[in-house]
Amino acid sequence: MRPIPYGRQDIDEADIEAVLEALRSDWLTQGPAVGAFETALSGKLGAEYACVVSSGTAALHLLGLAMGWQSGDIVITSPLTFVADANCIVYAGATPDLVDIDPDSYTLDPCKLEDRIQTHQKQGRRVRAVIGVDYAGHPCDWKALRSLADKYGFQLVADACHALGATLNDDPHYAARYADAAVLSFHPVKHITTGEGGAVITGDTDLAEKVKLLRTHGITKDPKYLEKNDGPWYYEMHALGFNYRITDIQCALGMTQLKKLDRFVARRRCIARYYDEVFGPDDRFTTPTIAPHVGHAYHLYPLQVHFDSLSLARAELFERLKEKDILLQVHYIPVHLQPYYRKHYGFNEGEFPVAEQFYRRVISIPMHPRLDDEDLNYISASVQEAVS
Ligand SMILES: *Cc1c(COP(=O)(O)O)cnc(C)c1O
Repeated sequence: MRPIPYGRQDIDEADIEAVLEALRSDWLTQGPAVGAFETALSGKLGAEYACVVSSGTAALHLLGLAMGWQSGDIVITSPLTFVADANCIVYAGATPDLVDIDPDSYTLDPCKLEDRIQTHQKQGRRVRAVIGVDYAGHPCDWKALRSLADKYGFQLVADACHALGATLNDDPHYAARYADAAVLSFHPVKHITTGEGGAVITGDTDLAEKVKLLRTHGITKDPKYLEKNDGPWYYEMHALGFNYRITDIQCALGMTQLKKLDRFVARRRCIARYYDEVFGPDDRFTTPTIAPHVGHAYHLYPLQVHFDSLSLARAELFERLKEKDILLQVHYIPVHLQPYYRKHYGFNEGEFPVAEQFYRRVISIPMHPRLDDEDLNYISASVQEAVS
């Protein structure tokens, strides 16, 4: 497979057959596959409810609205994430804030989070919610985040878009256990795909019902909610919602993909062990460290390259590997360095030094289940050669 991207989907004949079957059925959307996929997801994640929607970003958007975030509320997330986490705070009319990452797990630092919450409190501002991001597939310190949530009374959200298949203390249900709700994405680079797609996972009946109402224009036909009932055609709009539905075609694919999740994650872990051996210990690189009791899901393999001491520019490394048909990526440009967030929220360079240092060094090298041992040899040798 050339070129070799940093991530890609793994689609087999069973997936294709499932999609064809959906296409031949009576339902292209809002049929039986949607509910079946939700049931399968909620079982896998150990939560009462899964609400599937058109993307991970749509899931974050609706969750913020369902949680009631509004003007005057502060919602905190990590600077080391995709912009969608900060954007969903803005969509709800709340104010985004950031707290630096832990240098080993690359996830929210609970001590810095507590300091920041106290600062907000002293200035009379309310921290309404915190979104922890399981960066690359390494769970946050969810036990610490949960106890802070209980102590300070904020809502806790798990952005588990990188972490489907991860475990904490051997528990694959940790996100639903510690957070009030978790969000997933089924974009093709993620662990399982529906083309585009996402989900809100929660044990909270009220949140699940709000998300399901908002994903379909805020319209309900459920007799238990109707103010009156004029007949079988009758529906009512109760909230300003969106068309964020996902199709049966996509959910049929999601069902067959989910069956392969364990195998996908096992292969990703195998690839990570290989890279760990090739690139560490070596003072030119820092390989990811894993906290005790963590089962990493390896959405990404973030390799830090010590460009300063190598006198090699990252752009040059990208060029050299592109010539070899290896397409690197960088995850992520810290959110606070984006022009939009600087301009509207006053963030500055230097504010989150751990995330910034990480950003200067990191590359995402190819990590997906389709890579075979020959690919891994080729990638490793090419990276070694490019930095020597
Ligand atoms: C992919 C991703 C999202 C958004 O998901 P989409 O399905 O692409 O909208 C949000 N957060 C993180 C950390 C992601 O990796």
